[in-house]
Amino acid sequence: MAPLLEIKNATKIYGGGFFHAKNVTVALQDFDLTIDDRPATITTIAGESGSGKTTLANLVLGFTKITSGQIIYKGVDVGAMDKAQLMDYRREVQAVFQDPYAVYNPFYRVKHIFDMVLKNFKLARTKEEGRALVEAALNVVGMRGEEVLEKYPHQLSGGQRQRMMVARAYLLKPKLIVADEPVSMVDASLRAMILDIMLRLRDEHNISFLYITHDLSTAYQIGDQIYMLYQGAVAEAGNTTRVIENPKHPYVQLLIDSIPVPDPDVKWGGEEVLTLDDEQMRVSTTSGCRFYGRCPYRMDRCLEQAPPLYDLGNNHLAACYLYDMAAEQEPSHVAA
Ligand code: SF4
Repeated sequence: MAPLLEIKNATKIYGGGFFHAKNVTVALQDFDLTIDDRPATITTIAGESGSGKTTLANLVLGFTKITSGQIIYKGVDVGAMDKAQLMDYRREVQAVFQDPYAVYNPFYRVKHIFDMVLKNFKLARTKEEGRALVEAALNVVGMRGEEVLEKYPHQLSGGQRQRMMVARAYLLKPKLIVADEPVSMVDASLRAMILDIMLRLRDEHNISFLYITHDLSTAYQIGDQIYMLYQGAVAEAGNTTRVIENPKHPYVQLLIDSIPVPDPDVKWGGEEVLTLDDEQMRVSTTSGCRFYGRCPYRMDRCLEQAPPLYDLGNNHLAACYLYDMAAEQEPSHVAA
């Protein structure tokens, strides 16, 4: 059986062209990922702003066009799908965003958002049937129609709005939900509730997630595999527990070290670490390792070309020459 989703050599470049040849930003480069059809999994794409994680989400959701590479869903290239296949893709691949309020039209009662889905995807033959589907979807996220459907968006809490978005996605019986920072705007107890809903959807309803986040602690709680992005490329990838408990890439080690205590409520301190001249590095280090300027283990060869992903066993990958077993060069430690 074909994988549920395959991303092959996905590259997204902004700018360029005749008039802007020098203003090129490589938002994502040669990104590969496979999500199997079964069992359902939660795949985390982690990185701070500018790492390419939201670009990846937008590519999968069709909000932006891929520069090169392929996104393949159930064996079919999304770029070559016919109308019917695209309709299925749009139904089966749903999104949940960071700010649910932005998704609602403030002038409509919230039931409008469900009515639109029922209508656009022709999910029900009668009003009653539609209402039963909506009720079932709300029940999955622990809500009841009578509590929320007749209200306006501003009358709901942030947590209710976010759970409604999950229910809306569930209504379409998706195979994959792209969840872009779904818990970054809710408090700790609601965060736990929404993460729990994600786990239940994975385990009880066979729905996979592409979980986009800057927060390693939540990735650690729910993620199966993880891709750590740095400036548009994968720095490290593998089983979430293995990567977070035993990081190999110097950048990822730095991030994990910046988490002061192993407390799930403590957020990843990535933003702090990455206040250096990232944009400058992105432009100047066009040929070598993107992390060169800040790496305590940098070597001369790191500037020659970007390191490939080395397989460290058990599908644990790291893009760093320290793991090039064929190399004879010893790393020369540079004092931080
Ligand atoms: Fe550091 Fe070189 Fe590894 Fe890049 S490839 S992370 S510069 S040791």
